Amino acid sequence: MKAIKAKPFFRGVRLRGRKELSENMSAERPDLAGCEIAIPMKQHVGAPAQPIVSAGERVLRGQPIAVGTGTVCAAVHASVTGTVTAVEERADGRGGRCMFVVIAPDGTDDEAFYPSLEQRDPASILQRIRDCGIVGMGGAGFPSHIKLSPPVPVDTLIVNGAECEPYLTCDDVLMRENRDAIVRGAGYMATALGAQRILIGIERNKPRAAALFEESGLPVILLKKQYPMGSEKHLIYCCTGRKVAPGKLPADVGAVVQNVATALAVCEAVERGKPLIERVVTLSGDGITTPKNLLCPIGAPLSALANACGGIKETAVKMVAGGPMTGTALTGTNAVVTKTTSGFLFMTADETNTQPPTNCINCGRCADVCPMHLMPMQTEFYVNAKEYDKAETYGGVLACIECGACSYICPARRPLAQAIKTAKEQLRRKA
Ligand code: SF4
Ligand code: SF4
Repeated sequence: MKAIKAKPFFRGVRLRGRKELSENMSAERPDLAGCEIAIPMKQHVGAPAQPIVSAGERVLRGQPIAVGTGTVCAAVHASVTGTVTAVEERADGRGGRCMFVVIAPDGTDDEAFYPSLEQRDPASILQRIRDCGIVGMGGAGFPSHIKLSPPVPVDTLIVNGAECEPYLTCDDVLMRENRDAIVRGAGYMATALGAQRILIGIERNKPRAAALFEESGLPVILLKKQYPMGSEKHLIYCCTGRKVAPGKLPADVGAVVQNVATALAVCEAVERGKPLIERVVTLSGDGITTPKNLLCPIGAPLSALANACGGIKETAVKMVAGGPMTGTALTGTNAVVTKTTSGFLFMTADETNTQPPTNCINCGRCADVCPMHLMPMQTEFYVNAKEYDKAETYGGVLACIECGACSYICPARRPLAQAIKTAKEQLRRKA
């Protein structure tokens, strides 16, 4: 089936992709011999999972090690077979702390997956997705069993293969290497949702993936290379022409978006009973010796992954978890792979902004590019004055999707997206 042209949206930014650094590197398993695997209990939106194992216990790959607590949460499973050496609070390398279950792998392949799902009706699929701890793997980390149970009827499932952030190629490689499983996983999700239509959105800079999916029979929406194309609201508009109003959810216009990696995880959960225990991660940037895509167990240490890529160069000045636009700056190499880690970037001074901000020159470029039609310079003014209510009343900050396009385009290097995040945080605390 020939790809369908997408509806255009006219804001956002055109970014240098840098995909060439790793797009031809197949997903390979790194050598993690001798490494401890530290699995965080907070890898998703909602309450942290509650550990159900203790130090000294042997656990099998795929065995539940933590259960979901509260309405919004996700279970966590052992990603390797071995002995639990600690259940303790640690720094997460991203500026926070949480509980970890630490496992010393014993090198065996013993597994504790669920049986293949026989009854593939909506309720059974949703329960399997919940049991397997599947969350949105595109970065949001929202538990998938909840997202696939919207309160209103949905007719369209959109599979997100946009991967619009520079450097990241994990989804591109995943699509090229697992097309049929992704199509089947999308089918299971559509059954769970009761959706009659499945679309897959792929940016034009991934022609091999787009061609493969065209052959699969799934309608492909060929998207312009434009940031933030992967944002749910923009993807829904470009694929269906439906507009999600501020404060509304995709389900309100009859659509749900799920990432391609989530579709693969759902397929493996349904057909093989495999929980979400591993994912493909891109290691890239001019500050790493050999950029690669690595298939990593959840909890794999960044330091070992960097070694698998030939090591971090001395010229690296900044490390980021995720993409350069929405990722989190790392405080050290003690970060680990989580269910939502799409990449680790190692950036040199040429690739990142290390200069201090200067005064706003009122050029208006931040407002010109904002895909949500906000006024970032005005919002930053209110945030600096700690007038958070005005930031919402006059700046509409709660509609911000935190894409970072405003900060990127600003000639004065103002930390606009950071200011907006601060305002949103303060307003949420007050609510
Ligand atoms: S204000 Fe928010 S939505 Fe608009 S460009 Fe900045 S980060 Fe993106
Ligand atoms: S882009 Fe930067 S300098 Fe221009 S108006 Fe916005 S904040 Fe001011």
